[in-house]
Amino acid sequence: MRADVPLHRSLLLRLLAVSVLVSVCSIAATAWLTVRSTTVAIRQEQGQALADDARTYDTLLGYAATHPGWDGVGEVVHRLARETGRRITVTTERRAPLADSDAGPPATLPARPTASIDPLHVDTATPDHIDPRAVGPFLLPRNERDALRSAAERRAACLRDNFGAVATIAYGPSGRPVLDTRGARPYSEARCASTVLDRPTATERKALAVLQKRVSSCLARRHEPEVRLNLDFTWTRVAAPVPAEAGTAADDASRGGVVSECVTSSRREQLSPYVASPALLFISSRDDDRSTVFDLSPANQARVAGVAALVLLITVTATVMAGSRLSRPLRALTDAVRNMEEGRAARVEVRGKDEIGMLAAAFNAMAERRERLEELRKAMVGDVAHELRTPLSNIRGWLEAAQDGLANPDPELVSSLLEEALLLQHVINDLQDLAVADAGELRLRAEPVDVTDLLAQVATAHRGGAEAAHVTLLTRAEGRPRLVADPVRLRQAVGNLVSNAVRHTPPGGTVSLLARRVGDDVVIDVTDTGSGIAPEDLPLVFERFWRVEKSRSRSSGGSGLGLPIARKLAETHGGSLSASSVVGNGSTFTLRLPVPAHAWDRSEA
Ligand code: ADP
Repeated sequence: MRADVPLHRSLLLRLLAVSVLVSVCSIAATAWLTVRSTTVAIRQEQGQALADDARTYDTLLGYAATHPGWDGVGEVVHRLARETGRRITVTTERRAPLADSDAGPPATLPARPTASIDPLHVDTATPDHIDPRAVGPFLLPRNERDALRSAAERRAACLRDNFGAVATIAYGPSGRPVLDTRGARPYSEARCASTVLDRPTATERKALAVLQKRVSSCLARRHEPEVRLNLDFTWTRVAAPVPAEAGTAADDASRGGVVSECVTSSRREQLSPYVASPALLFISSRDDDRSTVFDLSPANQARVAGVAALVLLITVTATVMAGSRLSRPLRALTDAVRNMEEGRAARVEVRGKDEIGMLAAAFNAMAERRERLEELRKAMVGDVAHELRTPLSNIRGWLEAAQDGLANPDPELVSSLLEEALLLQHVINDLQDLAVADAGELRLRAEPVDVTDLLAQVATAHRGGAEAAHVTLLTRAEGRPRLVADPVRLRQAVGNLVSNAVRHTPPGGTVSLLARRVGDDVVIDVTDTGSGIAPEDLPLVFERFWRVEKSRSRSSGGSGLGLPIARKLAETHGGSLSASSVVGNGSTFTLRLPVPAHAWDRSEA
């Protein structure tokens, strides 16, 4: 990069800044959207995981409540793990493994278990914190269940038939049916009473008696009056200062508290041989399942950062490549312009047809034109110097000779010197005319012109010269063509053509001037029977200072500006000047001028 382009103005840097900004914005937007949508997914996932964990816990708690040990739990653990897609580990309270859903090395257990499984000390469930599924000795044998079921069905039928009450039968954990008689009036149950259903079965009586014994001894230890237990573990006071009164754990706050403590502890003692020992439950995600874990762990953060860095790297590389492709030709152009300023050749390589390629091509064309003009200018200055030097050195030579007495300043010498001075003045006048025309400052005094008269005037002016050269000068007009033009300038243009024709026509030849209307134009032809011009020279005769015969002989040499001036005058009038020639036969110069005045009267001062 060149030192003179300030860094913050550098095309490449600005391009880089824009693309980095764009990519950072798009990465941020994508990341934000991803995080939002994943957060929703994570929440749903977590909700499902919580529901799965609750089901696992409940199922294992149920197993513990209905089995005296953990021996057969493996199958249940495997089924749950399969259904939830999680790793399930059950250990003793001392963390000795009881069952693990996954084979292989034992799981490294977290400090806190997911839950502890103890059916006799459950957090929620019933007020006594004993899982209702733990029924122990109250589990009914098949015959008692059948008897109770048929009694319940009979009672439901009685209620339906007599009172239209809909009673549904549900079965408790021990197998005892429970009749739901919602909607039936209170006395209706008395009418459909069932001794089988309302009394404990033999199994229940036996279990209740054992429990009663434990409760009584507990109360005795605490010096509390005795109570009688019901099948639903409520109790009735037996020995009381007031007649027997029913109480529950809830409504007897002071003394009932002790009773319910005794009932609960006695029940735990009675049930403990029937339930599994307390255990710890660990639920964790599977080892091979890590990919589905949506968290922004350091590894995930590194991954996100890595992808972002990669995107940035690609963007920066692409921008640097595109930017240098863009700035390289621009720098080449700048170098070329500097070369041009310092006058050296200036060209840039044109690659492709894009905007920069077009700029390079346009620059090359401009540089070429500029070089051509520069060459022309140099040649012109050289030519002008040359044109002036020849007559001037002639004059000086003769004057020095006269001064030294070598030449006699007789009338012949004086007229020769005058001729050289006139030639000098002629060149200077022509140059001035051209310079004025080039600058677009040539003033035309337009007026109606009769072309036949104008040709006659020109012929008269050149007749002397033509006769001296033994050349016949003829004028002719078809009709009487007229136009609006500057007569002085027009005479000058036609005069230049006629003097050229006379000079290039050998004695005995003819120069004819013909004027005619062609469409909207007036055309003047100056035709001679002279030497003619070679086809390759024809386009060059209108160049300044260009001559077929390079030596400037007095007979044929003019200033070399006659034709360029004539063409310029024609163009200023809105017309044109062209030439055609056959070597050895002669040449025709054709001046074409438009008739409508408005075609050129703008240049009228
Ligand atoms: P010059 O003053 O030398 O005549 P011009 O610009 O008038 O300059 O003409 C340029 C050159 O064109 C002349 O030197 C001559 O060689 C050639 N030329 C012009 N008119 C004729 C003509 N009628 N016949 C042959 N050659 C001509």
